[in-house]
Amino acid sequence: MAILAAERAFIKWKEAPAYFRAEILENVVSLLKQQKEECARIIAKEAAKPIKTARAEVERTIMTYLFAAQEARRIHGETIPLDAAPGGENRVTYTIREPIGVIAAITPFNFPMNLVAHKVGPALAAGNTVVLKPASQTPLSAYKMAELFHEAGLPSGVLNVVTGSGQIVGDVVMKNDRIKMITFTGSPSVGKYIKENAGLKRVTLELGSNSALIIDEKTKIDAIIPRVVTGAFSFQGQVCISIQRIYVHQSLFQSFVEAFVQETEKLKIGDPLDEETDLSAMISKMDVKRAKSWVEEAVANGAKVAYGSQAGARMMKPTILLNVPREEKISCQEAFAPVVHVNSFEQFEDAIDEVNNSDFGLQAGVYTSNLPHAFQAIKQLNVGGVMINDIPTFRVDHMPYGGVKLSGMGREGIKYAIEEMTEVKLVSFKL
Ligand code: NAD
Repeated sequence: MAILAAERAFIKWKEAPAYFRAEILENVVSLLKQQKEECARIIAKEAAKPIKTARAEVERTIMTYLFAAQEARRIHGETIPLDAAPGGENRVTYTIREPIGVIAAITPFNFPMNLVAHKVGPALAAGNTVVLKPASQTPLSAYKMAELFHEAGLPSGVLNVVTGSGQIVGDVVMKNDRIKMITFTGSPSVGKYIKENAGLKRVTLELGSNSALIIDEKTKIDAIIPRVVTGAFSFQGQVCISIQRIYVHQSLFQSFVEAFVQETEKLKIGDPLDEETDLSAMISKMDVKRAKSWVEEAVANGAKVAYGSQAGARMMKPTILLNVPREEKISCQEAFAPVVHVNSFEQFEDAIDEVNNSDFGLQAGVYTSNLPHAFQAIKQLNVGGVMINDIPTFRVDHMPYGGVKLSGMGREGIKYAIEEMTEVKLVSFKL
């Protein structure tokens, strides 16, 4: 039903003028601004996201829809000088970008409002219609967005929310020829399954990582510590670009670990609705158990615990491990938990090698005051984004965002998502 409704609605929506699509998105921005706190509380309650982090997500969601509204007004093609090749003379040639049709958007639990916006915003801006399948653990943020779109004047059938088991809904979506594209954000295993079963549908995949940070010699440790702690433990480490691996120059190793532990000790674990809370429950008991067992395995194989490692049924203390062998799961797989490990390096190229020694490649961070090292990192790191003098856990919502290797394919960041969600049509006038 939802797919059929989206297909019917596409006939009119693709003809809607750009200013109209932009105005609907602007209306959503206004409504979100009016209902910020309610939205933040929905996220906090359904995902156990600490309220201050949930508020930040709502602010970002507002920006994401604002960028979508702006981009809706400037989707355009280009003119092409066909006379660059013999036989191309005497033609006026240009491209236009057309919407591709019904898009299935499948989203994860960890940013239940903003990652919906990263799919719905550009899809609607470009004139596509959407069947949205939010994460089973966090459907309420998606329902809230659907409500706001309705209030904003979106014609019915343009955005449809379907909840339920990922496997069941996913299989329906993959088999249905009315769906022209699947835009997926989630785990690498599900992403791979979708890619293998989607046939000729266009697919973009925003998947996981075990993001790394290099701290080069002469870095001023005190200046970076608060940011490193946020990047490692925000939302219990359940962020696709959470810092999971830190490689510190051996001259700074001891002082970095001491300062990192000291700052981490200040984090408050508690109720997500409490204003003071920094970390709350993880998304499932199973995930706590998995992360805990990976930590125990690493310790049994020689890693040292510098802080944390204790876990209850749903909570895990922020955990800092030292000298973790690279083949340990807690290093080479995606932890998606408040666990980070710190290893030392002697030569800068060894640190680059460690970062690249991963099945993933989303973003990496490098603190360095050595310019040649910065350019070496930019050239040699095999990731979708390199953050010089920052942590990998950085995203503003209009930047191109996505990964290489098991971290996915395709880019989001409104303008870039619109490129993925439109078809280029060539027009050639023979004179
Ligand atoms: P998940 O893969 O378990 O679920 C994501 C979505 O896929 C959910 O809606 C789920 O119901 C659905 N799904 C599950 N099985 C499916 C199937 N067989 N077919 C189709 N859909 C199916 O991921 P999660 O636990 O919700 O989220 C965590 C993962 O998402 C982590 O790996 C994280 O790194 C990744 N992530 C990536 C980004 C990014 O932009 N790269 C952003 C956020 C999260």
